[in-house]
Amino acid sequence: MRITRYAAALAAAGVVLAGCSSDAGETADDAADNTAAVATDVEFEPGSTMAEIVEAGELRVGTKIDQPGFGLANTAGDPEGFDVEMAKLIAAKMGLTEDQITFTETVSANREPFLQNDQVDMVAATYTINDARKQVIDFAGPYYVAGQDIMVAAGNPEGIEGPEDLAGKTVCSVEGSTPAETIRSEYPEAELVLYDVYSKCADDLRNGNVTAVTTDNVILTSFVAGDPESFELVGNPFTEEPYGIGVQKGADDFRDFINDVLEESFEDGTWAEAWDRTAGAITDTEAPEPPTVDRY
Ligand code: GLU
Repeated sequence: MRITRYAAALAAAGVVLAGCSSDAGETADDAADNTAAVATDVEFEPGSTMAEIVEAGELRVGTKIDQPGFGLANTAGDPEGFDVEMAKLIAAKMGLTEDQITFTETVSANREPFLQNDQVDMVAATYTINDARKQVIDFAGPYYVAGQDIMVAAGNPEGIEGPEDLAGKTVCSVEGSTPAETIRSEYPEAELVLYDVYSKCADDLRNGNVTAVTTDNVILTSFVAGDPESFELVGNPFTEEPYGIGVQKGADDFRDFINDVLEESFEDGTWAEAWDRTAGAITDTEAPEPPTVDRY
């Protein structure tokens, strides 16, 4: 697969690394080779979004690269995680190989602009479906339902039990995210500290610069799993965050196609398998019941 934006040098190093590790029997690619078989018998109506993508020979995907379990760049620079698996599944059903996916980092705030400016065909990036976003882009899904939660220092020294306890405390989140918006509108007494990505919030909490971090529980759970000596999850979700695949506004054919792929994966087990080898493996959790796709 090709990666844009982040370190071409890293990607080049990745080629070398993969070459080395193949001597040991398994490359990173082998390990990730559990994804759905690439379809060989697909045909799309000429002029459709899918036909255009297939003709271009490239599916351009926006994803996160600093969120363990959902979208995290590995040492070779390739993103891995549940969102990435969803993208690979969609590509495979279009008859595209992993090499034909171009991943681009999208942070929370630039997901809509990347779709609006035709920089990507789709966004799979812990992306909550909501009406404000639906004004400018469209969503397939949901394929997962998270909930906003709070991460604090291990031992919870300030005794934070929920968002009400954040009044007068510093809480870190990310610009352009629904959790930041929820704090701003519903818990204005909290002192919001904003970055572009959640890994910077985690660093701030680790260094004692903020009292808490707030975003979706699944994102926080993965940070806690990675550093349980530093972090703890409050475990009291207070919103619903249905994750969708963002597509360009009006790309109804592509949205229908992705919804079909998602529903099929819910039924044939590939969705649960994708969970098990990504977010599920990190957080030691079983795949939940798949949500119901909303063909609005
Ligand atoms: N799901 C929320 C959102 O889409 C928070 C996670 C994120 O920022 O990616 O805004």
